[in-house]
Amino acid sequence: MLGLMQDWPLLCHRIIDHAAINHAERPIVTRSIEGPLHATTYAEVRARALRLAQRLDKDGIRLGDRVATLAWNTWRHLEAWYGIMGIGAIYHTVNPRLFHDQIAWIVNHAEDRVMLADLTFIPLLEKLADKLPAIERYVVLTDGAHMPQTSLKNAVSYEDWISEVDGDFAWKKFDENTASGMCYTSGTTGNPKGVVYSHRSNVLHGLMANNSDMKGYSSRDVVMPVVPMFHANCWAMMFAAPIAGASMVMPGAKLDGASVFELLDRYKVTCTAAVPTVWLMLLQHLEGTGSKLPHLKKVIIGGSACPRAVAKVFQDIYGVEVIHAWGMTEMSPLGTACTFKPEYAALAGDARLDIQQKQGQSPFMVEMKIIDDAGKRLPWDGKTSGRLKVRGPCVARAYFKEDDGLLDEEGFFDTGDVSTIDRYGYMQVTDRAKDVIKSGGEWISSIDLENLAVGHPKVAEAAVIGVKHPKWDERPLLVVVLRKDQSATRDEILKFMCGKVANWWMPDDVVFVDEIPHTATGKIQKTVLRERFKNFVLPSAAAAR
Ligand code: ADP
Repeated sequence: MLGLMQDWPLLCHRIIDHAAINHAERPIVTRSIEGPLHATTYAEVRARALRLAQRLDKDGIRLGDRVATLAWNTWRHLEAWYGIMGIGAIYHTVNPRLFHDQIAWIVNHAEDRVMLADLTFIPLLEKLADKLPAIERYVVLTDGAHMPQTSLKNAVSYEDWISEVDGDFAWKKFDENTASGMCYTSGTTGNPKGVVYSHRSNVLHGLMANNSDMKGYSSRDVVMPVVPMFHANCWAMMFAAPIAGASMVMPGAKLDGASVFELLDRYKVTCTAAVPTVWLMLLQHLEGTGSKLPHLKKVIIGGSACPRAVAKVFQDIYGVEVIHAWGMTEMSPLGTACTFKPEYAALAGDARLDIQQKQGQSPFMVEMKIIDDAGKRLPWDGKTSGRLKVRGPCVARAYFKEDDGLLDEEGFFDTGDVSTIDRYGYMQVTDRAKDVIKSGGEWISSIDLENLAVGHPKVAEAAVIGVKHPKWDERPLLVVVLRKDQSATRDEILKFMCGKVANWWMPDDVVFVDEIPHTATGKIQKTVLRERFKNFVLPSAAAAR
């Protein structure tokens, strides 16, 4: 027997309909690419998204067609997502920080037909245009007055373009499993991989994000997504905020400490989210100016491990709750968040920070397991580490145009992370499987050592890689960038770390560098470091010879 409830497919445009009806006047403020601050509302965003949908439809964009966006977080980009999805087309966020050849590769691989781009990226696109033959039209996300002279094919300003239709249009009807969005993983090895979200997965994921042990937005919140819309589906914020009816503040292209602070302060932002690098810049700005954060309640930190010092300063000095979160593009992207179950809720000081170093608990709809090399499940004891696998309705089962299914026989996806899970279900990433250091048959966590090293007051950034060793196979080498105008010795850093980790985990040597290489999403490029130090001879290795 089937249930007798209504057939109401989970389609993304229902989210913007809901926000426009029930939270019509809620402000959406943007630092525009042209310069001035711009304000709109959910009601206007919906009306203009419908115009865009109508305009795309007029150009023959149909169900399943891909529309690329190369853009910062702005109200126009938000309208674009909903307008594109509302006719069953697919928003494809392109990360402008990728190498140019990679950008061309993914736009061609996705077979994008239209490109919506911010003014910032016009010079880049003019250089790449010859390599993008399938793009039929470039729409510049600006108005007629700011439209530059450009050689781009059929280029038009967004405002002029959408004003060519009257907005009298209705969303199209289709199945909830229809594709809605696309985002490529950065592909540190090999070509990038296309992850394809469905309407159903985006709606479920937006609801999941609003769980109070995840981000938990309400209509009283002012949410500022600092994480770009081109990074891992913007961590659900473009769905979770309108579902909740929260006000939004979009930072546009300016993500430096002073600019982020200005918006947090002026618009009384209550919740925000980004990678650790952004927060390091903000904290530096606050330290320099003596400013405070009286309105901010929650900051979500993820994408790479949240340094202990960042969590401590936010909480102890500024009274802002830190939520350390973990996820990946393939998971829509939320996987876990480190909020407090009753078992940990009473902890304070260092004991609380210890727990916050973990990536946290999984919400309903994310199932986790850790396994050994033979595929056997490992215990949740907080000590045993293994490959982390996940399953759920917002987790990828295959990549775009790749036939191979990604899942094991139980339907789990291999995250490529190595982690522990404790008895209360708190997961802690100890490494990427390919970065773990294998010493004498045992594993050493590079992330733990890096977290420890950045706790040293003179250290700005640290990376740990495995270097060949004649006796132990690999031993850890610590690569350090010092804070501005600081100097330190190898022994000083090692002495600071000594006693805080098992002796056999201690790095065998320390090298100081001016800069550590990063990927397009701000992660340390260990492959580049390993290549650079592949012939490095550790003092212990020389002695063992
Ligand atoms: P990109 O490289 O494009 O940012 P993803 O966002 O999909 O790609 O990267 C996901 C990976 O980032 C995870 O598998 C994990 O290794 C790492 N990661 C994400 N959040 C955290 C975190 N809080 N702590 C440690 N690693 C993290």
